[in-house]
Amino acid sequence: MSDEINRLLALHRYNILDTPAEKDFDDIVFVASQICKVPISLISLIDSNRQWFKSKIGIDVDQTPREVAFCDHAVRGNQTFIVEDTHKDERFKNNPLVTANPMIRFYAGALLTTKDGHNIGTLCVIDKAPLKLTPEQVSSLEALARQVVSLFELKRKLKIENELNQKIVENKITMDSFFETCPLMMGIVQVNGTEIIHVSDNKATTDFLKTTNQFSYPLSATKLGAPQEHISLWLEHYKKALTSKGPVYFSYIHGGRYLKAVVNLISNEDSQPPKFSYVVIDETEQIQAQKESENQRAKIVHGSRLTALGEMAGSIAHEINNPLAVIKASSQLIEIELKREQANLNPKLFEVLKRVDTTVDRISKIVKGLRSFARDGESDPMLTLSLNQLVIEALDLSQTRFKSHGIKIDFFSKSNECLVTGRAVELVQVIINLLNNAHDAVVDSAEKVVSIKIEVDPVSAFLTVEDTGPGIPVEIAEKIMDPFFTTKPIGQGTGLGLSISKGIVESHHGEISHKRVNNKTQFRVRLPLAEAAQKAI
Ligand code: ADP
Repeated sequence: MSDEINRLLALHRYNILDTPAEKDFDDIVFVASQICKVPISLISLIDSNRQWFKSKIGIDVDQTPREVAFCDHAVRGNQTFIVEDTHKDERFKNNPLVTANPMIRFYAGALLTTKDGHNIGTLCVIDKAPLKLTPEQVSSLEALARQVVSLFELKRKLKIENELNQKIVENKITMDSFFETCPLMMGIVQVNGTEIIHVSDNKATTDFLKTTNQFSYPLSATKLGAPQEHISLWLEHYKKALTSKGPVYFSYIHGGRYLKAVVNLISNEDSQPPKFSYVVIDETEQIQAQKESENQRAKIVHGSRLTALGEMAGSIAHEINNPLAVIKASSQLIEIELKREQANLNPKLFEVLKRVDTTVDRISKIVKGLRSFARDGESDPMLTLSLNQLVIEALDLSQTRFKSHGIKIDFFSKSNECLVTGRAVELVQVIINLLNNAHDAVVDSAEKVVSIKIEVDPVSAFLTVEDTGPGIPVEIAEKIMDPFFTTKPIGQGTGLGLSISKGIVESHHGEISHKRVNNKTQFRVRLPLAEAAQKAI
């Protein structure tokens, strides 16, 4: 790059060309003209093809072409440029500024030299008569020229600083409005021992905590209404962030909302106690949508399993029933034959035969129950049914499981003939679901008892299944009837039992409810009595 280009760059970085007059510079040219006792003084800046006057005294024009400028000669040298009498100087005697206005006879220009050594103009003094400056006047002029450059520098720095401050203010406004309007909860806290002090929280946080305008900051988390267990949880993660010096993520539930938080040490400050930033995102909707789609998938899987089970049950029942009929007929034949030769026979043989017979009956019942349980009973007709009989059918299917886990079953019925109108397959399914849940509840308890009770009033029948299990925690009590709600491990619970049972009971114009009575969990099904039964009561 040529020197002239660098010189022009140096001039332009001050951004001073064509700016209005300023008192600071006008004072300098005034002092210069006073010191040198001349009528004209200028701060002249040499642009690419003109000289422009930042400040002037004794002259009206703002600029002249560069080729006639005395200052152009000055900036090419490296010291104060003085022409004591232009008429005696070959270079200037025909210069239009000499031959015409302002009729220059005397010129002295002290260089305006930048820090990096570029001569960008002069502080000059001019007279219309020849003149000789004293050395003191020359050095005063040079001192003033240095002041001009210092002022240029100062103003440039001030401008940069102002622009920077302006940017900082703009950035702060942007950051503040980002902070306030961001839909994620965020803020800054200090951790002092076991106390979390909120230095600032954004609107999303105060809206979530419903504390807007209530308090002034800084504010302790306790005052913000955070429960103690949440404070302990946050403290634990702030401590982790302090040691790891990196972001720490964790999830928790607040007021039924699923929240994911990240905390981080604000490391550019050495503040004591340490400062942290936090951001919290409410993921409730996403999690619910995810659960919903998992539920749908489980529903499809479950549905297809039930269909497969139903189909299998039909053919298994068919396959088992035929050999069972053969066994039963054969045992009866043996009994007849044995009775003929009774005299010589051990009586125990009859007992054994009797046992074979009752076992065959029991297997038949189980197969029948399995078949009806797996079948979809929704399209069956509504018939008058004995509730006692339905309980016995359900028990036939369940009692082996109860026995094998040492669970005692009590069955009390206050009415021998408790008749309801309904679909047997569906009602047996309800009773089995309640028995299964009672089984699961007591299986690990010290006392393992499940009681089934049937009671009636003039219009309704009540079936109660009670167990000695630990009960239903209050926080899930409202959800247990929801489809797919289960607290059982994967593979053990589908969460469908109670919701299906509720649907069945309601389609029979009844209700299902649960409560804790005498330290026992009680599920109670109410069904309308069949008309015949109502008349009988
Ligand atoms: P599943 O048995 O497959 O979990 P259910 O709809 O039958 O589905 O039951 C839902 C939930 O209700 C169970 O996971 C359990 O948490 C609760 N529950 C049902 N019956 C009882 C009971 N007798 N005692 C304690 N909790 C029960």
